[in-house]
Amino acid sequence: MSIIPYSKQSISADDIQAVKRVLKSDFLTQGPKVPEFERALARYFGTKYAICCSSGTAALHLAYSSLGASPSSIAIVPAITFAATANAFRYLGSDVIFCDVVPETGHICIHHLEKILSSIPKLKNDQKGFIAPVSFAGAIAPLERCNQLASRYNFQVIEDASHAVGAWTHNENGKKKVYAGACIHTQASCLSFHPVKHVCCGEGGAVLTNSTETANTARKLRSHGIERPFDDEHDTPWYYQQVDLGWNYRMTDLQAALGMSQLSRIEDSLKSRKEMARRYIELLSVERFSGSILLPVFNEGHAWHLFIIRFCRAGMRNRAYKYLKSKHIHTQVHYIPVYKHPYYQTMHRDLQLSGSEDYFESCLSIPMYSGLTLKQQNRVIAELDNFLAVEK
Ligand SMILES: *Cc1c(COP(=O)(O)O)cnc(C)c1O
Repeated sequence: MSIIPYSKQSISADDIQAVKRVLKSDFLTQGPKVPEFERALARYFGTKYAICCSSGTAALHLAYSSLGASPSSIAIVPAITFAATANAFRYLGSDVIFCDVVPETGHICIHHLEKILSSIPKLKNDQKGFIAPVSFAGAIAPLERCNQLASRYNFQVIEDASHAVGAWTHNENGKKKVYAGACIHTQASCLSFHPVKHVCCGEGGAVLTNSTETANTARKLRSHGIERPFDDEHDTPWYYQQVDLGWNYRMTDLQAALGMSQLSRIEDSLKSRKEMARRYIELLSVERFSGSILLPVFNEGHAWHLFIIRFCRAGMRNRAYKYLKSKHIHTQVHYIPVYKHPYYQTMHRDLQLSGSEDYFESCLSIPMYSGLTLKQQNRVIAELDNFLAVEK
């Protein structure tokens, strides 16, 4: 029987053509396709700027450093995320404080965030503070609430929107739709174009922002910190200078062409994920699953990057993972609380956040991607059913 992965990229004939055209062109690394993709991203997310780079991790690193993160900074990161959300602050020497999450959603817990902000020393004059909420699994994080707290304590908000292309919610007065990545309540948002994400570039990422200064700094740091101050009319148009210490985080035109082609199909992909989520919820919310499995809440603005179920009894998640694997259905745990990793244990040895631990012990991401067929989805549900029969 064929393996059903928990996630998988979808590559069309058009995607292949788009990459082939670049291979035959004059530009392989950053050429005309990158700014074209950047304009398309800025249009899609409704931001002034999009700065493409080599990965989602690079995007976080660029965004944090462009907004001034340094060894004197304090960065608050939800404990349930991919480690890169925290790691990119560590690259810059900033102190990371882990915030608990709401176990039902995996989102940063506003009450705990407020507790952290009110208990740490007030920021000194030149000190910067950051909050990096993650729009988790395809549902937009409570960005407006984060921003309200951030402004009170002089922090900046950077959204990790890697999971949330196409996600939206209504703002607090219920009047306006706010999209993930749109930078309405944040100074910047970051995207990843890793193959399991909504838009795949192989590897790739982008910083979204409405700030000209942040965009310019991110662009400069993406390519070594080099500036070209003169245009073609000048005596020395070849002149460039390195004004800052940056990196080579450029995206290639191959990646940008693939990303453009993928982005043009995003509505179809979001629609099929939404239908799949609706179907999972419908078929799993029957009597025989209740009391064993908790389901995510369906809402229209969910982008369904992951479909995460939670098991009600201790140890069940680990047994389900093994059982499904033996039936060639691959699932995944998103995520181990970041502070539990040995690297972070050296700094956070005694940390235990109850919401994050609860969530982590029970969660399992079951297959969700735009190429998943009805038949495959039925197989996942049938095997979950069989697993519960074994458990009883
Ligand atoms: C995928 C992901 C990243 C990192 O993206 P890469 O492109 O793999 O570097 C960061 N944060 C979250 C939440 C992610 O899911």
